[in-house]
Amino acid sequence: MALSDTFHAHCPVCGNLELQHISPEHVHGALGIVWRLLGVPALRCEPCRYKYFSVLPLREMQPEEEPVRASSAD
Ligand SMILES: [Zn+2]
Repeated sequence: MALSDTFHAHCPVCGNLELQHISPEHVHGALGIVWRLLGVPALRCEPCRYKYFSVLPLREMQPEEEPVRASSAD
């Protein structure tokens, strides 16, 4: 699990894997221009509001398993 996560984009600040694609214009900095020219997607971390560029793909969000049928409360 941990190994596969290293191949997915995660926040370098807090390690959050649930990042959002944002417009590259929102990421400031000298390197931002370079990344934009290279077509590297910009990502944003919701919890710490950190914005950065990453070539790694976002991890697919696993839908939480909802026990719809299992309503056996007894
Ligand atoms: Zn973060």
